[in-house]
Amino acid sequence: MNLTQRDSIYLWHPLTQHKTAIAPLPIVKAKGALLWDENGKQYIDGISSWYTSMYGHCNEEITAAMTKQMQELDFVMFSGLTHKPAIELSEKLMKILPSNQAKIFFNDNGSTAVEAAIKMALQFHFNNGENRDTLIAFENGFHGDTFGAMSASGIASYNAPFEDFLLKVERIPVPTEHNLAEIVQTLNHILENNNCAAFLFEPLIQGAAGMKFHSVEGLDALIAKCQKHKVLCVADEIMTGFGKTGTNFACDQLTQQPDIMCLSKALTAGMFPLSITSCTQHIYNAFLSEEVHKGFFHAHTFSAHPLGCAAAIAGLELLNSPTIVAKREWISTSHNAFSEKIKEHSKVANVRSKGVILAIDLAIPMDRYGSLRDELYQFFVERGLLIRPLGNTLYLLPPFVITESDLEKCYVILEEALNTF
Ligand SMILES: *Cc1c(COP(=O)(O)O)cnc(C)c1O
Repeated sequence: MNLTQRDSIYLWHPLTQHKTAIAPLPIVKAKGALLWDENGKQYIDGISSWYTSMYGHCNEEITAAMTKQMQELDFVMFSGLTHKPAIELSEKLMKILPSNQAKIFFNDNGSTAVEAAIKMALQFHFNNGENRDTLIAFENGFHGDTFGAMSASGIASYNAPFEDFLLKVERIPVPTEHNLAEIVQTLNHILENNNCAAFLFEPLIQGAAGMKFHSVEGLDALIAKCQKHKVLCVADEIMTGFGKTGTNFACDQLTQQPDIMCLSKALTAGMFPLSITSCTQHIYNAFLSEEVHKGFFHAHTFSAHPLGCAAAIAGLELLNSPTIVAKREWISTSHNAFSEKIKEHSKVANVRSKGVILAIDLAIPMDRYGSLRDELYQFFVERGLLIRPLGNTLYLLPPFVITESDLEKCYVILEEALNTF
């Protein structure tokens, strides 16, 4: 039996309707921006394995740091104990996070980072003697698959069976150049008629919604308005973090600063599940008390795993290294040139790019998980390009280390798709 046949016996895959799904690709090897399957066929990892492996798969500097860490200190609990990898990572992150961020709380994946952020916000108000029970979030946002994170998410194709069990959330559209006044009015109405605790958002780019961009000035205005009402602003940078949008964090492009940030995915360069919920000193202080229960009694077994911290530290060394910065800028310039080239194509409804993210909305109506979407996916797989169309949006988010010829190949295949479908 080959791997695909053996897989089908016991395995249940995420985000998969197994009755109709195409068999998963059996990947046996990865290097840089490339993957190989069991039959030796090569693929370009066009979305960096869900936006994680930005410095390339099996990056030698990162695997070396992890190997060294594994031989010195594998894992210890993070409650009552501490260790150098976590301390060093917190010091390095503080140098690049927005200046108001002061404390780092560790979790083990993106959803749990959001979960911790929501609990932190709710308990912040509770500790201050305020009853605030409502979250504000964008339409079509995605924040993860645990209950709090799912509540904040606004993509109904994932949430429908659980709607009755979710937290209280008021939803607003993302701000564009044209609708800001209207949204501010909606937000005012929400703030006046609810006890709002937190505003959660993916800053500037909504990933799962289809790499949808929104306005910097608009988001700034909404954050300012929320903060005026003492609503904590939570920037979910799990997708946007670590150089993908052109800056270290998408929030660096804002004037306002978030109260809480969620980091994961590229945090560990895709090498290890780890996440962070960071916050301001003001929030942290609300948990300090002679009363023990005012502390944040929230923990995940693998919080601050030393291996993940070692990977993250090695990743941060690379993020703003001259080689990676040059690659990031070159990808961004290439995306712009390709956008110019295809923007008048009859199948292109919209093309946009920011940093290393390129998204094309096809002028073809399509279900998020329909058969046409599957045909598109298969079209790319056959040509050795791994991307996951989101409805009728095609997007590239390649590792920073992708080679010139591989990036060119991505564009050629994308253009071929435009001429085929
Ligand atoms: C992926 C993602 C999450 C969830 O992270 P998991 O590690 O998959 O739980 C949350 N928010 C955003 C913006 C993401 O892209």
